[in-house]
Amino acid sequence: MEQKYKMPKNNLKIDEASFLSLLEITDRFSHTQKLKILENVPSMKQWQFDDLFEDLKKYSKIKNKIDLNTQKPADKYSLNALKEYLDSKVVGQEDAKEKLILAYYEHIILKKEDDNYLKPNALLIGPTGSGKTYMASLLAKYIDKPFITANAANMVSAGYVGTRLDDILTRLYINAERNLEKAQNGVILIDEFDKMVDNDSHSSVGGAELQQEFLKLIEGGKHICKAGLDRDASRIEIKTDNILFIFSGAFVKISDVIKRRNKKQGMGFKNNKITNNKNNVVLHSDIIEYGIIPELVGRIQSIAVLDKLTKNDLFNILKNTDNPYINSLNKFFEYHSSEISFTDGALDEIASLAYKLELGARGIKGIIDRITQKLKFEIVNSGEKKIRVTKSFIRK
Ligand code: ADP
Repeated sequence: MEQKYKMPKNNLKIDEASFLSLLEITDRFSHTQKLKILENVPSMKQWQFDDLFEDLKKYSKIKNKIDLNTQKPADKYSLNALKEYLDSKVVGQEDAKEKLILAYYEHIILKKEDDNYLKPNALLIGPTGSGKTYMASLLAKYIDKPFITANAANMVSAGYVGTRLDDILTRLYINAERNLEKAQNGVILIDEFDKMVDNDSHSSVGGAELQQEFLKLIEGGKHICKAGLDRDASRIEIKTDNILFIFSGAFVKISDVIKRRNKKQGMGFKNNKITNNKNNVVLHSDIIEYGIIPELVGRIQSIAVLDKLTKNDLFNILKNTDNPYINSLNKFFEYHSSEISFTDGALDEIASLAYKLELGARGIKGIIDRITQKLKFEIVNSGEKKIRVTKSFIRK
């Protein structure tokens, strides 16, 4: 028999299916959106929304389906929530954070509602280990979109040996657990995008041919790819209209391009460093000058520049962010009923060593691995232990 729920305040009875869909509504939409939805359901017109909400809260507690006191997904996807989330993990890179957040936000909110909405593809320019891939993958995970990275340096036109463009779609599809709808709304990060310029291993006309092919992929439409990585996997058709593309690269010679442009316009270029300062900013035309074809550049909505991380940034990453390396290290020790911690002096030393490596935050992992290698064996062999790593321990 169908179960009925009585809403205490409203004194109305509804069946389980309606009740659950109400919970869904309550959970997924903002207050204003909910009012709109409820307005359009005739049988609910007499319901006071706030009363209904109260009732739902009570029921949801009883059923333990969802806790309405926790953050609602509608709020979870707000610009502020995305920013707060990224701030808890990523040090610095304020401009890039904002541009990327806007790109993802527009991707989830606006593109979904309007097919003609221009895809907010973004380009991240910055040195290695400055957080380009990290930020893009964190956001994708947060908003629950499949995410893959593909390296432009290995890409080749059809018929050549290397990463073919349709393989990228196959990987996205696999990452989306073979859910076509999810894959079609996923995110692809094209790493070393600047290498597409001089990637001439595949043709006699430099990277332009590959870029043309790539353009077709990001422009949208249906593309055929394999449903799996094995040779005789069946074929599927993926629509790329709603796939968000994030491009990233070091673009090491971009400062020369800006200098030349500024010179022509009688402007200076300060500190030899690209920044968001008016004179040092990267324009779309600079990317074209760099060698990316105009049609492709036209598909990039925003360009963000990431700064090289300072020693202090590296220290902050270790000390104040939810860092994946430190987290997995803690897990290893916890697993063996032990504990590891670092003094500020030790963290400062690790930051100094990493800074000297010139690999941005990428250098951190290797250093921590080296420091903790022996300690790991020690605790595995000797059992429960509390270890505090100091600067002098590292220097030894
Ligand atoms: P790239 O800029 O070359 O794409 P990544 O984003 O892959 O570099 O960074 C490598 C790792 O370094 C990340 O997984 C992350 O742990 C750490 N990292 C890099 N930049 C930052 C940052 N700004 N804040 C916090 N962690 C960072």
